[in-house]
Amino acid sequence: MLPKYKRVLVKLSGESLMGSNSYGLDPAVIEQYSRDIKEIADLGVQVAVVIGGGNIYRGMNEAETGIERAHGDYMGMLATVINGMALQAMLEKVGVFTRLQSAIKMEQIAEPYIRRRAIRHVEKGRVVIFGAGTGNPYFTTDTAGSLRAIEIQADVILKGTRVDGIYTADPEKDPTAKKYDTITFNECIQNDLRVMDMTAFTLCKENNLPIIVFDMNKPGNLMKVVCGERVGTLVKG
Ligand code: UDP
Repeated sequence: MLPKYKRVLVKLSGESLMGSNSYGLDPAVIEQYSRDIKEIADLGVQVAVVIGGGNIYRGMNEAETGIERAHGDYMGMLATVINGMALQAMLEKVGVFTRLQSAIKMEQIAEPYIRRRAIRHVEKGRVVIFGAGTGNPYFTTDTAGSLRAIEIQADVILKGTRVDGIYTADPEKDPTAKKYDTITFNECIQNDLRVMDMTAFTLCKENNLPIIVFDMNKPGNLMKVVCGERVGTLVKG
């Protein structure tokens, strides 16, 4: 199979790493994701990954937790580093060279985020995992995904989710909901379809970075997406 994209940024949500658990990490899910990533890396595709943290901690309403929002957000960012380390370990176990870069300095476990260095790593065939989101509170890892994808000049952002694309309505609530194969940024806005949070979405739109939303939990799907098969929904300008 021939890849359609040369360089991709894969966005994985923290919640998907839980599998059927209600908290933390499911090793089987991490292994499946690692094998899927290896498949496309073996094809010569340059891969970077941004990973979420919602399976461990999410910055929450201050009134509920008593923890100041910004403080809680930093805790959430640390959670993404734990997930990044887990993914790194599994990727290396299945035979992929990796580097973990963190937006918050923690030199004993991760390189600091250095854009040009990240590009060099992916050029050499290493999978770069970006941890700690953007390094700033009040953002999400979707925004980190868009930002890093633009910074390293990825051809596309591949948003792996538990659903297989973008629908006219929530398919879990509305049985008549239909899936879009392709949709434009403007159509998403007009139809109030929340592909990502507004900051992340706007970054992609303004920089004309296509997004593919697809079901990452189906083994082999990532490969199909990278080879241009009609899997998931493509959002473009
Ligand atoms: N976070 C943040 N800045 C960032 C990225 C993440 O403050 O640039 C915090 C925020 O509190 C968020 C948490 O980290 O709730 C976990 O990230 P996210 O919710 O995006 O993870 P996911 O939904 O992908 O599991």
